[in-house]
Amino acid sequence: MQFNELGLSDKVLAAVEASGYTSPTPIQAQAIPQALAGRDVLGIAQTGTGKTAAFTLPMLSRLEQGRARARMPRTLILEPTRELAAQVEESFAKYGANHKLNVALLIGGVSFGDQEAKITRGADVLIATPGRLIDFFERGKLLLTGIEILVIDEADRMLDMGFIPDIEKICKLVPFTRQTLFFSATMPPEITRLTEQFLHNPVRVEVARPSSTATTIRQGLVASHGHGAKRETLRKLIRGEENLKNAIIFCNRKRDVAILHKSLDKHGFSVGALHGDMDQRARMASLDAFKNGDVNLIVCSDVAARGLDIPDVSHVFNFDAPTHPEDYVHRIGRTGRAGRSGVALTIVTDDDRKYIDQIEKLIGKSIDWQGPGLEELGPDESPRYERSPRGRRGSERGERRGFEKRAHGERNEDGKSAETREPRRERAPRAERGFEARAPRAERPERDRGDRGDRGERHENRNEPRTRRRREDHDDGPAVVGLGDHVPSFLLRPVRPKPAAKPNKTNGD
Ligand code: AMP
Repeated sequence: MQFNELGLSDKVLAAVEASGYTSPTPIQAQAIPQALAGRDVLGIAQTGTGKTAAFTLPMLSRLEQGRARARMPRTLILEPTRELAAQVEESFAKYGANHKLNVALLIGGVSFGDQEAKITRGADVLIATPGRLIDFFERGKLLLTGIEILVIDEADRMLDMGFIPDIEKICKLVPFTRQTLFFSATMPPEITRLTEQFLHNPVRVEVARPSSTATTIRQGLVASHGHGAKRETLRKLIRGEENLKNAIIFCNRKRDVAILHKSLDKHGFSVGALHGDMDQRARMASLDAFKNGDVNLIVCSDVAARGLDIPDVSHVFNFDAPTHPEDYVHRIGRTGRAGRSGVALTIVTDDDRKYIDQIEKLIGKSIDWQGPGLEELGPDESPRYERSPRGRRGSERGERRGFEKRAHGERNEDGKSAETREPRRERAPRAERGFEARAPRAERPERDRGDRGDRGERHENRNEPRTRRRREDHDDGPAVVGLGDHVPSFLLRPVRPKPAAKPNKTNGD
């Protein structure tokens, strides 16, 4: 099948040719003719399949007739993240190079003023994240009654991010007669229900979810102790990998992205980060720095990295083994693209075995250990301040180490909040909670000490050089004599003198 057989306009075909595409991808070949015919499309496809062009190209062809009116966009594309929205905007710029269309982006973290000006002028295409769109609508800055085509992209990701009520609301605000193009990588029941409610007799187009990994990718498992030891494992990997040009490092949780980024930065690596808590400007700057080669490492969460069109990278490191096997396929697909070679290494701790089993089952092959396996793993040789408190139950040292790790931004492994734990005897500063949350209940120290937490806060806020801080953290202070400052209350009770002993009749007095 060729692009010119799909019914696209000449202007669009010229732009596609300029993009260097020779033939449509399966999702494009199936979805474009239906979309051009005005049918609703339910596309089950994930990113990397060419789905953006599958809806952008027919939209461009259809937008050639008609004009936008002030505050009344003609088409609306909903994206779960700001980066994806920005990426779709780039696609419109590329494929719409021969059109004079107004494309407006409505995403959080960017000033209202510029966005409002574009919408007021009249937008042919409005690309938005749901929250900001509703915000604009409720402020009366936008009318959705002119929408001819509604695109809902990455619907399952919207579900993960809690956007479904917003999507339902938006679907009710746009005209019933609009055309809907709906894309989702998976079809959980909530998404099926949504499609049944808002799509009219859709054509279902499905592209197989990749469950195999490219043969050009060298995959490996790297055994590691848990907790902070993983950071040392990662540093060794990065330093030891030959031909490492650039790498994406995946964490399972966004807060861990920030922590790992900070840690790598402190260890002198050229690294950026991408996670949902960063403001928009910082996210864009991070992504650009990685794309331009200003930094050669980028730490990401799945949500932030999903769908991003990051150019080929030489290495993918899974700092955390992904808990969903599909995420593994998705993550490592960032390398070894277009027949090039790539390396994907996954750091594995004892707790990750089950995830590796699931991954190997999905990809239909086992992944070799690079270096010793979990059974042959030697003692934890990571720096003391990064080591796990496990095995040091209740000891002063173990507790201190926990605090140190928090002070250095240690992660909270099990993600539980302090509220779910035993009530504290004294106030529970953040440093303690970070420590507490890492170890399973059975392995936690018997009692935390209030003074340690105070120190933790103080250390966190300090600006002294790191080496100095570390030494202090290990400093146990002067040796404690006897009970130290603490005098048990029974010793403070007044002592009642005992009655004098009766004379011993036998002693002769
Ligand atoms: P997407 O799934 O939309 O994120 O697209 C993934 C990548 O495939 C993007 O870099 C597109 O530029 C590229 N792409 C889209 N359509 C084609 C095509 N027909 N031929 C080659 N590459 C394409």
